[in-house]
Amino acid sequence: MRTSLTVEEALATILEHTRQLEQTEKVPLNAAVGRVLAADLQSQVDHPDVDNTAVDGYAARAADTAGASREKPVRLRLIGESPAGRPFAGTVGPGEAISIFTGAPLPKGADAVVAVEDTERDGDQVILYTPATPKDIRKKAQDLKKGDVYLKKGELLTPGRVGLAAAMGHAELPVVRRPRVGNLSTGDEVIEPGQPLPPGGVYNSNAYSVAAQVRQAGGEPVLLGKAGDTVAAVKEKLASAGQLDLILSSGGVSMGDYDIIRHLLEREGQIHFWKILQRPGGPPIFAEYQGVPFFGLPGNPVSAMVIFFLYGRPMLFKMLGRTDPPYRRVRALAEDFFKGAGKKVAFRRAILSYDPEAPGCHRAKTVGNQSSEVLRSMAFGNALVIVPPHTHVEAGEVVEVIPFGEVF
Ligand code: AMP
Ligand code: MG
Repeated sequence: MRTSLTVEEALATILEHTRQLEQTEKVPLNAAVGRVLAADLQSQVDHPDVDNTAVDGYAARAADTAGASREKPVRLRLIGESPAGRPFAGTVGPGEAISIFTGAPLPKGADAVVAVEDTERDGDQVILYTPATPKDIRKKAQDLKKGDVYLKKGELLTPGRVGLAAAMGHAELPVVRRPRVGNLSTGDEVIEPGQPLPPGGVYNSNAYSVAAQVRQAGGEPVLLGKAGDTVAAVKEKLASAGQLDLILSSGGVSMGDYDIIRHLLEREGQIHFWKILQRPGGPPIFAEYQGVPFFGLPGNPVSAMVIFFLYGRPMLFKMLGRTDPPYRRVRALAEDFFKGAGKKVAFRRAILSYDPEAPGCHRAKTVGNQSSEVLRSMAFGNALVIVPPHTHVEAGEVVEVIPFGEVF
């Protein structure tokens, strides 16, 4: 069995054993945010479909209005109007104008508009204090050209992209099926929230923190409940799980007698590796169990979340065929001391904030208690400070940081 991999080796091994999902489905626009496009999307229309005006004002012939000014205004005869969605049917002739409203098509004969602010109305005439020009005309197809691809397969559907798909005329979008991710908790001491807590018990937080991370990464969490510390209990839960694309468990992966996930996978799985040279989260196990990738996360609440974020999230991105990176790195000024972890890489939880004066435009402050069972570091921290092997970070140094939450 390969053991104690570096962060890079572990990620590479995990991605090597992760397949992109092939199934796609159609979702209405209103359910599309957060999904991943399964095909390129072409515009079904030109936008604008004809030349139209970007301002409220008057449409006329530029040649008639040349040289118009406060001192020498130009008068035009009004022959009609064109609100948005109701094109003017006639033709604008020499010395004529129509009143026109934002988004309305430019009428035949006119080649320029003047904004209402630079005019005055006088009965059936309009007085122009500035020349009508083409600068406020939106040319046909200047935004979208019919048949051109504006959204690509593998792109995450953000609010702006959902809007763009709608603007292109699509009512339903082809998206990649959400990976079904089984989420199994282990531990005789682990109790569901809402139940009374017996002495020595601990509420199950991993099921819910990791399921929430799965959802954020675009997967569909399938809660499998909790198995007590026997191999038989774990097998029973997995047998009733149905078809899954990935199994995540928490706990039971260390060296102890009750580390039954490891025992099960040693006997009946195919283990790709055990342990990563990092802290928190050293003992994860990555395997295949009955044809499904199986990622055994550590039991400590911070470790489970950090391991999912660094390795599970990239797995889901690959399954979804997402083309954006699963996380990013920024540089920041360390405001505090961050302890290293000897030969391991340490990922210390920090509060990352924007500061235009700081190197990398960010500051990183420790969350305080860095123990792997103190979940408040993940609840109130928003970033992982990377402390390379055999080093510590002193206050005032510049560090690399991986944000996992919003940065303000
Ligand atoms: P283990 O890896 O199973 O030895 O668990 C390590 C630590 O994580 C122990 O203190 C467990 O009680 C705790 N733990 C395991 N599973 C969970 C869970 N689902 N929710 C909260 N804490 C857990
Ligand atoms: Mg346990």
